[in-house]
Amino acid sequence: MQGGERNFAQVIVPSPLNEPLIYAVPPALQESFRIGMRVLVPLGKRKVTGVVADFLAQSPRRETKEILTLLDDRPVLDLSLLKLIHWASHYYLAPAGEVLATVLPPALRAQSLRVLVARPGAFPEAGELERKILEQARRRKGRLTMRSLARTVPEKGLHRALERLSAMGALEIKERMSGRNSIGRLESTLATRPADGAGREWGGSSQSFTLTSEQARAMALIGARLGAGGFETFLLCGVTGSGKTEVYLRAMELARTANKRSLILTPEISLTPQLLDRLDERFPNRVGVLHSALTPSQRWAQWWRILDGRVDVVIGARSAVFAPLADLGLIIVDEEHDSSYKQEEGLRYHARDLAVVRGKLIGCPVILGSATPAVESFENCRQRRYRLLELSQRVERRPLPRVEAVDLRPQAFSMLSPRLEQALKSNFARSRQSLVFLNRRGFANFLLCRRCGYVRRCPHCSVSLTFHLRERGLYCHHCGFREPVRDICPGCGNPSLVPSGFGTETVEQEISRLLPEARIARMDRDTTAKRGSQERLLRRWHKGEIDILVGTQMITKGHDVAGVTLVGVILADLSLNLPDFRAAEKTFQLLTQVAGRAGRGREPGHVIIQTFAPDHYALRYVASHDYKGFFAAEIEFRRALNYPPFRRLVQLRLEGPSPQDAEAKARLLGDALRQRERPGLHERVEILGPAPAPIEKLRSRYRWQILLKGETSPAVLELAKRARALFPRSRKTRLFIDVDPYNML
Ligand code: ADP
Ligand code: ZN
Repeated sequence: MQGGERNFAQVIVPSPLNEPLIYAVPPALQESFRIGMRVLVPLGKRKVTGVVADFLAQSPRRETKEILTLLDDRPVLDLSLLKLIHWASHYYLAPAGEVLATVLPPALRAQSLRVLVARPGAFPEAGELERKILEQARRRKGRLTMRSLARTVPEKGLHRALERLSAMGALEIKERMSGRNSIGRLESTLATRPADGAGREWGGSSQSFTLTSEQARAMALIGARLGAGGFETFLLCGVTGSGKTEVYLRAMELARTANKRSLILTPEISLTPQLLDRLDERFPNRVGVLHSALTPSQRWAQWWRILDGRVDVVIGARSAVFAPLADLGLIIVDEEHDSSYKQEEGLRYHARDLAVVRGKLIGCPVILGSATPAVESFENCRQRRYRLLELSQRVERRPLPRVEAVDLRPQAFSMLSPRLEQALKSNFARSRQSLVFLNRRGFANFLLCRRCGYVRRCPHCSVSLTFHLRERGLYCHHCGFREPVRDICPGCGNPSLVPSGFGTETVEQEISRLLPEARIARMDRDTTAKRGSQERLLRRWHKGEIDILVGTQMITKGHDVAGVTLVGVILADLSLNLPDFRAAEKTFQLLTQVAGRAGRGREPGHVIIQTFAPDHYALRYVASHDYKGFFAAEIEFRRALNYPPFRRLVQLRLEGPSPQDAEAKARLLGDALRQRERPGLHERVEILGPAPAPIEKLRSRYRWQILLKGETSPAVLELAKRARALFPRSRKTRLFIDVDPYNML
């Protein structure tokens, strides 16, 4: 390449602009520059990290700022990752810089900060606000940034106060660099297993089995694709305990023999220590791990190992879909239906969908695995976009558990029906382990005044506060607000508050009353908040030191504990009644997963599901272990009501501190879209709303939404883009665009 062709560079920078910015490349640096390298560039008053996306011979503008420095001596992103960033930025209507911020670990995002440095001395002429600022600056000893200051003091008058302070010589605003690192320097902190490194103790089996005939067939097809090369998506649809993981492991080994690397995504790493062990065992010292529980330096160390080609396999949660693996030859998404693959803030992407896109960009096979595939994924098989691989039998011909629904309607409601009570007792008497599932933590849903009906609600969210017995506190499960319990009703002044409804904490207490000798534990977000506590709980559970484990969704995933022979579901209806078109699908998935924990050892399992809706199709098909039956019913419902996979959705969500402003802006936007909808669009897009979100107030912000429904994604995306262009930039109410939304609340 001629030097002149590299006079300018397109740089992806963290800014709300939708296109990369163009900078001049200093002549002295032109030779060492390559696409995918990190650079430090000026942006407004700051200096920020950007990544070179492309070179240009000429700039379309006359004045271009110059790149300040190169931050590393080699690219951090390869072409396929740059393409993926580009794709995600267009599809999710997000600035490329926002995607980049999801891709790069924080330690690699060097930027300059403006900090306030206080001078010694007394400044009696300072006013109240000025003194407050000065005090903060002193306390933080040169580390108080403009940003954090702006969060703690009112915006009004801030600017003037700062001017006055510097005029009287009390304060100086300086520039400081943060995160100025280059790749490779943190190698000393490098850790193979960031979690514990205590070795394999989750019963990862080292023996090699003969594959079942269904596993062998799946492997043959995957192997053929790996051999021939090229992109293809497989949907590995296998009942719980059918040996899907074994198929993943063998496929990864095959990829390695071809000198290719593999990426495996899993919903929550902390819940899959067994899988980590099995990977460690087959790829000793060649496994990279990426997930949100890593400290920034651990994350960076892992990232660097991966970039440097020192691992053959990367396992990670959602954001690992952007892992900087070169020679990627296989991508696997375990539990592909899991909603944690959808990021709900910042860049609202779906990691499973991006995994398929990445496979397509690279030209490598992608395996999506699940016992209960997402309706969208199974429909893709029917449309022959994905290839279906079925595992219909558990390994070693173990039977699937017997599932029994207990109809709660005829009975006076109690948390434990006589049927479940009796089953728990007899399972305990036989020294077997039981799992009890309820998708709600806490002790009571709310405190209710028996006299006036008053229910204490969260002051920031439109939900009632949940009563937690152990801390005797009221908690908001959405924003974390908490307050101590009062004895007197604030509504009528009478001491008549009683806990109503129930959660995992109540269930735990009820079972201890029933079986005082049993070792009972609870696993939910309250008991696992401390680092390592979840792992300790799981370890005891695996070792058989817990007889009965009560918990939320957390207990439904991925554990393979042979001693579990009974699973009880306290109330299946909780997820069924959510105002969400995926409610039935989510219930089916959740219950199938939790039922699948039973009978994985030699003894058959038994599942008891308590419900007020025993005839609902989601529950009937859980009982008969019939995914296809469920799919057939669900897909008709989706067709009839025009929901995905027959329509593409984009949710426009407006959020702001003022209810009037949020509503007014939502109505304006809705009207504007309806007027602009027709011209230029090839197909009609349905516009639903504006309407208040089901959770109308969340973290003190009022939420309105407009749902766009179209037959193809280009049409809906086009309209969403117009919404973005039409929406006035304001501090008050902001617009968030959620493409293929999962959270309808
Ligand atoms: P899934 O992921 O489908 O729920 P796993 O892959 O975890 O199932 O397999 C369940 C158990 O069966 C694991 O303990 C695994 O080691 C074992 N297993 C897998 N394949 C075979 C096989 N072909 N023969 C015997 N046991 C197997
Ligand atoms: Zn709240």
